[in-house]
Amino acid sequence: MPLVSMRQLLDEAAKGGYGVGAFNVNNMEQIQAIMEAARETESPVIIQASRGARSYSQDRFLYHLMLAATELYPEIPTVLHLDHGNSPETCLSAIKLGFTSVMMDGSLLADGKTPSSYEYNVDVTRQVVAAAHAKGVTVEAEIGCLGGIEDGHGAGGSGMEHLTDPAQAEQFTNDTNCDALAIAIGTSHGAYKFNKKPDGSVLKMDVLIDIHNRLPKTHLVMHGSSSVPKDLQDIINQYGGSLKPTWGVPVEEIQLGIRNGVRKINVDTDNRLAMTGAIRKVLMETPEKFDPRDYMKPARDAMKKVVAQRMVQFGQAGNAKKITPIPLEEMAALYR
Ligand SMILES: [Zn+2]
Repeated sequence: MPLVSMRQLLDEAAKGGYGVGAFNVNNMEQIQAIMEAARETESPVIIQASRGARSYSQDRFLYHLMLAATELYPEIPTVLHLDHGNSPETCLSAIKLGFTSVMMDGSLLADGKTPSSYEYNVDVTRQVVAAAHAKGVTVEAEIGCLGGIEDGHGAGGSGMEHLTDPAQAEQFTNDTNCDALAIAIGTSHGAYKFNKKPDGSVLKMDVLIDIHNRLPKTHLVMHGSSSVPKDLQDIINQYGGSLKPTWGVPVEEIQLGIRNGVRKINVDTDNRLAMTGAIRKVLMETPEKFDPRDYMKPARDAMKKVVAQRMVQFGQAGNAKKITPIPLEEMAALYR
């Protein structure tokens, strides 16, 4: 099966009333973990690479690993998505490489740190929408800024500084014609999202619901949506790590989002925690081992377990076979 556009997957998710996890990858084992979880749960998938991932693994390695995934798992509709493109040039290079979806994050300037103006955001997003839709490629945009910094990208802060204004979100979507919209509702990138279980004072689900009511047809995206489960933190700390106590976005809040227009949920930290915990356990328990496969295999298994669990919780499980991929040329014609 060829790679499919994200727009098609999210349209299907909207019809079926479910959400699709978007999992970040940097290497072969992470791609394998996601594809195995997708096969086991019969899920369509979004695999995403950040700028940091593209420079870590090099574009061509990443792209050919993804092609291998589509060859080996032909029954799984798979999207290759660029996470947090910082400029039109970055997005265009991903499209050229074969990504079927890109995020133009114009909520920050090209430095990936400084919150931008509304006009700047509309301008760069429009440029990417024009180029991407001409090729049938999907565009995710962002209005408002998340908290935290990950891979050198982010506005920093707690996530409460640049919440999305629902009226502006409505205007922005009309001004840009983006396919999916990432919104800031108090979440942050990385492991340290909240210092206690989040309530309505720090996780603004009411803002999300307001945006959905204004834009019932727009696919909403929740970034920074790892749940940071305590058991995964505990494994790391039990085997020599030192994570401070932290809370993520509870799965039931994500499910509330899915009932209110959320179609894409970004999860990275949970997988990082799962892999690192598994590796620490092997190295601490069996210090005589030195074959990387001895710890990479349990790490891959641990990530697969988390991904499969999220696929069931988000409702995408069981939906892979209902999707017949629309070729990108046809998607381009549909946009015209
Ligand atoms: Zn993000």
